Amino acid sequence: MGFFKATSIFLTCCLSVILWSLGAAQADSEKWLESKGQHFIIYFYPQTDTSRIDFILSQADNYYQQIAIQIGYSRYQNFWSWDNRVKIYIYPDSTTFVKKTGQPEWSKGGAVAYHPNLKSKVIISYDQQDDFIYNVLPHEIGHLTLKDFVREEPLPLWVEEGVAQFLERDKVKYVHAYMKKRIQENDFVAFKRLNRYDIRQEMDPEKVQLYYAQSLSLIDFLIKNYGSLRFGRMCRRVRDGTAFDQAFLQVYKPEITSFSALEKKWLRYVNGQ
Ligand SMILES: [Zn+2]
Repeated sequence: MGFFKATSIFLTCCLSVILWSLGAAQADSEKWLESKGQHFIIYFYPQTDTSRIDFILSQADNYYQQIAIQIGYSRYQNFWSWDNRVKIYIYPDSTTFVKKTGQPEWSKGGAVAYHPNLKSKVIISYDQQDDFIYNVLPHEIGHLTLKDFVREEPLPLWVEEGVAQFLERDKVKYVHAYMKKRIQENDFVAFKRLNRYDIRQEMDPEKVQLYYAQSLSLIDFLIKNYGSLRFGRMCRRVRDGTAFDQAFLQVYKPEITSFSALEKKWLRYVNGQ
């Protein structure tokens, strides 16, 4: 069975490019048990504790409701019901996950906006890691929700990664303190290149960390100061075909009339935290 090279159907996620064998889920079907919730179906190995699966299902539902509210998409609350339920494949441990999915060893999981063989949205990850329930799961659900909202229209990577990190445990709480220090050293991504900066080409882990932090800090700034509905309006314009830069400035005026104005306001916000 050949590995499927990631293309546009795959979401970028934490720099991991998902190379998940299209045949993997079927080939392993005898191993998977399933548990169905209203918006998610979880596939897991028989040795998994089922009370944990129940907990994962309820957490996934919480994240789904919360992120939709935060990004102004909540009136479509049942967008993942029945046939549109998201399939979550949980491997028992990192070794099995790497072996079965072809993911690099450092990968913690990923999301696929549409998996042609499984005919659905898919999240893959593994249990036995502290990060799974509180970081990987909300992160991937964040990606899929935003993708559902804007569909095929492109958003800058900082918007995608900022939204994806929004519900990760304690991240928002610490991100501004981190950014404040970096800003004092004049070390942040300049806004004139931010929208077109492709962090996936970056090899320096410090720069990657900074980029992720700045992305989350910006999304938090926008949602806390101007609200979820406004953010949702911006996404809807993008979904309807307006380019991001234009949609953003149309929706955030008169408070924000340019990306350098955004930079100034955001710097003030972070410094005031
Ligand atoms: Zn991501």
